[in-house]
Amino acid sequence: MTGKYDYDLFVIGAGSGGVRAARIAASHGAKVAVAEEYRVGGTCVIRGCVPKKLLVYASHFAEDFEEAAGFGWTVGETSFSWKKLIANKDREIDRLNGIYIRNLEKAGVEIIESRAVLKDANTVRLVADGREITAGRILVAVGATPFRPDLPGVEHAITSNEAFHLDALPGRIVVVGGGYIAVEFAGIFNGLGAETIQLYRGPLFMRGFDEDLRKILAEEMVKKGVDLRMNSDIVAIERKAGELHLKLADGDVLKTDAVMYATGRVPNTAGLGLENAGVALGPKGEILVDRFSKTNIDSIYAVGDVTDRANLTPVAIREGQAFAETVFNDNPVAVDHSIIPTAIFSQPEMGTVGLTEVEARTRHGEIDIYKTSFRPMKGTLSGSDEKTFMKLVVEPASQRVLGVHILGPASGELIQAVGIAVTMGGTKAQFDATIAVHPTAAEELVTLKEKWQPPAARAAD
Ligand code: NDP
Repeated sequence: MTGKYDYDLFVIGAGSGGVRAARIAASHGAKVAVAEEYRVGGTCVIRGCVPKKLLVYASHFAEDFEEAAGFGWTVGETSFSWKKLIANKDREIDRLNGIYIRNLEKAGVEIIESRAVLKDANTVRLVADGREITAGRILVAVGATPFRPDLPGVEHAITSNEAFHLDALPGRIVVVGGGYIAVEFAGIFNGLGAETIQLYRGPLFMRGFDEDLRKILAEEMVKKGVDLRMNSDIVAIERKAGELHLKLADGDVLKTDAVMYATGRVPNTAGLGLENAGVALGPKGEILVDRFSKTNIDSIYAVGDVTDRANLTPVAIREGQAFAETVFNDNPVAVDHSIIPTAIFSQPEMGTVGLTEVEARTRHGEIDIYKTSFRPMKGTLSGSDEKTFMKLVVEPASQRVLGVHILGPASGELIQAVGIAVTMGGTKAQFDATIAVHPTAAEELVTLKEKWQPPAARAAD
């Protein structure tokens, strides 16, 4: 390809979306360069999903050691080394970073280690050496960055970025926020032995998720030792005599060793020169795109968290792939964002796909709910009283399963498989026709017989 430009495609940002787009475009014969100012792999690989999951595994052991006794095991004295965990995690991240680099190189993509900013609709400037490069298409895939509210002393707070590199495990930590990152890190710190408080500003965290999951997660996290405080917010942070004093809105002061904000992420569009090219942004600074990830400027596209559509790695990868197919293989592909299975690596874990009960009632009026809550088999000997919960949201007329919500061990793995059925438009009858796998927790998904009735309706029976 190429013509009057240096490259057919210039990708800014070598994260999940950018790397996939670059590789696929190159495989279709495009001349491609990708600029990255930090490390190839992006948030997910370097300081997101991957290291987070490794820390989640690590944090489960305390509970596992305890539960082993019921199965006849005597576990000797245990100890935990944060330094060793972080060093091992860093080694794994280095390995993955190397694989990402090699895959780009194998695909013939040129990697440029520099921040790149837009000069105009077809030109970028490399901040490292001031070089200007032209490209037929520019793909912005720069992701998002943790947001911390502006309050006195917030500079003392860390975010997930720093949490992966702390010198030591804090003895006490306060996690602020009530979304994915906050619940996952509260579970990690608590499991590893830090005295963990989680503060959420509203009445119940995990807003937007199914109400039952939100309530049960809160109960289970408290049972595991997280000091979960809803309707609580920090108004100022002070460092005093080696500890942090967090002044709360209600006047209380919390003393802690570290405070981590997990209060959302903002698209990385500041200082990117998007205004030089006339790219339109939304209210959060996100790049506005159409179904094919094209901005209002014909030569400029954007994928992943910078567009604030569904901020999940597999979605960014899909968007990157679809962009490359559309633009470099003459095969228009639009990503369907309507059904996205997702896992939250809280403790216990949650998996969810499709509509919540509230969303389904709003859209469809009457709906059928099937749900069950039980103590999984392992708990009978381990002594754990952790609940597993499953819920199906069904549209009565078509019997289509609109949503599935699961809390319990391996919910992330389960929801991936159930997500296929929901994406295919599976009905309750088809779930029921599926032979159960016994003994598993998942068999409940195909054996739920009775429609759930609200307590008032049951009392009237
Ligand atoms: P989320 O948007 O999920 O949650 C942000 C939380 O912070 C909400 O509880 C919000 O409260 C609260 N909040 C926002 N602003 C303030 C404020 N000024 N003061 C106090 N609280 C505030 O963001 P996360 O940071 O947890 O995660 C970012 C994104 O990363 C997620 O959207 C998700 O897509 C992705 N992610 C996915 C993971 C996965 O797939 N397992 C894991 C980790 C991240 P309120 O509800 O009241 O607005």
